[in-house]
This record gives sequence, structure tokens and C-alpha cells, in this order.
Amino acid sequence: MKLVRTKDELRTLRRSWIFKGEKVAVVPTMGALHAGHLSLVEAAKKGADRVIVTIFVNPKQFNNPDDLDKYPRTEEDDAAKLAPYDIDALYVPTPDQIYPDGFATNVSVSGLTEDLEGAHRPGHFDGVATVVSKLFLQSRADVAYFGQKDYQQMLIVTRLSKDLDIETEVVGCPTVREEDGLAMSSRNVRLSPEERAIAPAMKREMDRAAEAIRRGAEIRVVLDSAKQQIENAGYGAVEYLELRDAETLAPVTDLSRPTRLLAAAMLGDVRLIDNIAV
Ligand code: AMP
Repeated sequence: MKLVRTKDELRTLRRSWIFKGEKVAVVPTMGALHAGHLSLVEAAKKGADRVIVTIFVNPKQFNNPDDLDKYPRTEEDDAAKLAPYDIDALYVPTPDQIYPDGFATNVSVSGLTEDLEGAHRPGHFDGVATVVSKLFLQSRADVAYFGQKDYQQMLIVTRLSKDLDIETEVVGCPTVREEDGLAMSSRNVRLSPEERAIAPAMKREMDRAAEAIRRGAEIRVVLDSAKQQIENAGYGAVEYLELRDAETLAPVTDLSRPTRLLAAAMLGDVRLIDNIAV
């Protein structure tokens, strides 16, 4: 595994692989790796000849400066976790490799970004779209692996890659969960033991709601009750709990097309999100 810090080194590597006709995968992350990230690495290893994992805590996608400050940074541990996977490159760009002096371009995807996470985290998806565009273009990967854990993000990066004719195909992978159902997240380490015990309530209530909706219960009534249950369990006010079209994220009133239930809520000072297929 080669540790790469500059886009020029990355390009040189990439060129040597293209020359041999090898398929290249990229797995973009912000580090603090857990089994969710590692499942993407595993999928990438199966799907391509060469695998680049990137670690960059992207300041442009944090709408809350405190969240950025507190974001775990664990490069050495991350490298140790990746060692058994025998990846080809770990790209940890210094900030100037992504945002050089005078950087003035913003990638903004409309439609998909406006609601749900977009409504609660102003500027977040512009930050994501901008950094992901850069990572796709710097790596010129054939394929990129993203988690369904960040479902809206996965749809947005798929859209931007198509819209900008970037030749990186986006592949979505299932959410990896703790045994009690909590979606793995780098932010989970910030939960106190008491909060950690409360945390699975969100997924539990989402599962219950999905089941009730499948059985034909009134969607609005089910969602209102699930929100209440999540809050009763000890979460703060639920930011959203919405049933949406799985492709467009448009609001839905029935199950005639594939749908997704998506939620976000604060638990103490940690913001947790989750989503499931209905
Ligand atoms: P992050 O480091 O949070 O930016 O996440 C990097 C990538 O890992 C994104 O594509 C996430 O969707 C994905 N990811 C994060 N948590 C999980 C999880 N629990 N299961 C699957 N993928 C995940």
C-alpha cells in the first residue's frame, strides 16, 4: 500500500495502471475507518484490479465548525485497518492538493440536494459534490464505491458523475450495522455509554414504521408516531423522518414505486442519520 500525498504522485501511479489496461477503483472517505468503510474496500477489491482509498476531512462539507473540529482524525489506525486488504494506494491529500490558493470553483447539484440533509445542512452537498468531483478527476478511477448509509449523497454523486461526463461509475453498497442495528458511523465514538444504549431506537422505529406502511397503514400517521417514539427513547427533536421515492427522493403517497425511509436526529450533540428500503 503506497501512501500518496499529492495529486501528481497519484496521477503517475494511475498512468502506470492505465498503461497495463487495469481497472481502477476509488473509495472516498474522511477516515476514522470502521467496518462500513472496510466493506466498501472489500467490494472495490472484488470489482477492480487496483484500489485507491482516499482520506480527506473535507472542511467545505461541514456546515457546523464544531463538528469539523471534533471529527476524529486517526490516520495511523486507518492505515493499520487497511493493511490486510492489500490496497494499492492510500491517498491522504494535504489541503492544498484539493483547495489550492485561489480555488474558486463550486460544484452544485440541483434538485436532489435541496431537501432532507440539504435542508438541514446548508452548503453540505456543494462541499461533497466539489470534493468528490475533484477526487474522481484526480484519480480518474473507473469505478467508485459509496455507502447507502449516506443514501442522498450516493444519489447526488451518481448524478454529478453522469452530468459532468466523468468516467467514474458510482456503485452503492449496503449499510453495515452494529449487532443492535445502529448504522456504523465515525461519529458513533462520540456517543456516551447512555447515548449509545439509546441510539438503536432510531433504526428500530424505522423498521416498525416500514412494516406498518407495508401492511397498508396511513403513511403520515405512522411517521408521526415513529418520530414521537424516537424522541421518547431519548433522541432530540427528529429533524426529518420521510418516505421518499428511492430514485428521485420526491415525496410519495403510496408504494407503487421503490421507496426509501430516511431519518436524521440529534442524540446529545451527535447528529445521526439512517435510511432503509421500504
Ligand atoms: P465518510 O468517511 O463518513 O465520509 O464515509 C465514507 C464512505 O463510507 C461513504 O460512501 C459512506 O456512505 C460510507 N459509509 C459510512 N458508514 C457506512 C456504513 N455503516 N455502511 C456502509 N458504508 C458506510
